[in-house]
Amino acid sequence: MYNLSDASTVRKILERHGFNFSKALGQNFLIDPDVCPEMAENAAVSENCGIIEIGAGVGVLTAELCKRAKKVVSIELDKRLLPVLGETLSEFDNYKIINADVLKTDLKELINEELTDCDEVCVCANLPYYITSPVIMKLLEDELPIKKIIVMVQKEAAERLTAEVGSRQSGAITVAVNCYAETRLLFEVPKTSFMPSPKVDSAVIELTMKKGGEGIDDPKFFFSMVRAIFNQRRKTAVNSISSGMGIPKAKVAEALKSLGFPEIARAESFTLGELVSLAKELKKLCS
Ligand code: SAM
Repeated sequence: MYNLSDASTVRKILERHGFNFSKALGQNFLIDPDVCPEMAENAAVSENCGIIEIGAGVGVLTAELCKRAKKVVSIELDKRLLPVLGETLSEFDNYKIINADVLKTDLKELINEELTDCDEVCVCANLPYYITSPVIMKLLEDELPIKKIIVMVQKEAAERLTAEVGSRQSGAITVAVNCYAETRLLFEVPKTSFMPSPKVDSAVIELTMKKGGEGIDDPKFFFSMVRAIFNQRRKTAVNSISSGMGIPKAKVAEALKSLGFPEIARAESFTLGELVSLAKELKKLCS
């Protein structure tokens, strides 16, 4: 049994396999003995649960998940890590490594094929930061039968993802995430907890899937309005929506007025519910 939180142990294993870290694949492996057990403890909601992990690395988090869940399916893009994982995870028989790009993987099919005998499914990962937003949006939009997502992301991304809609830190992704999940920042992780050490600090967040939707009847229209507002967040909503969506200013102003907003309202003026109402009103006036 290896101590995968020990930097010199991990270095020796990797050297033996002739492995060099790939910056392009966001390979910063966790070497903090407290972080993976805590992430796994939050993700493995019961002994009978299934876990999807994104990016196994040397298996430091995978091993903690295997100890607590019924089955772990880990998607790892770098095929050089497969023999490494064969060695580091040899004591477990409840995992499967899929050598694939998570963004090109049909996760619904994966759950149906690999995790149907689990009571519930959660996602747990120390994400490769270059694909943080697309991975999170894929997990939320693919209508997966998952209970929650526990992921490590860059600290600034964690703050944005868990910000309150309408706060200064919120952005289009905050709105999008809040449509699907309750968000919570669990704990921060310093850059020294990784090998090699990245330039930025990190944080672990929890996204618990919401049961019902937010009453969004046309997601395409809603999200294009949200992007228009937040892409030009310093402008008034009248100007940003009008230029971003090609809708006459008078129509946008009318929609805002009918909902009781002043003409100077901008990105930070709206709660999630108010954005949903604004999109509905705007669509009504435009059709
Ligand atoms: N879980 C390990 C840990 O905590 O030490 C590794 C985390 S490391 C930040 C991210 C991992 O994701 C790397 O092993 C990398 O090869 C893998 N990866 C990068 N891009 C990927 C992709 N598109 N699909 C699946 N895995 C990917």
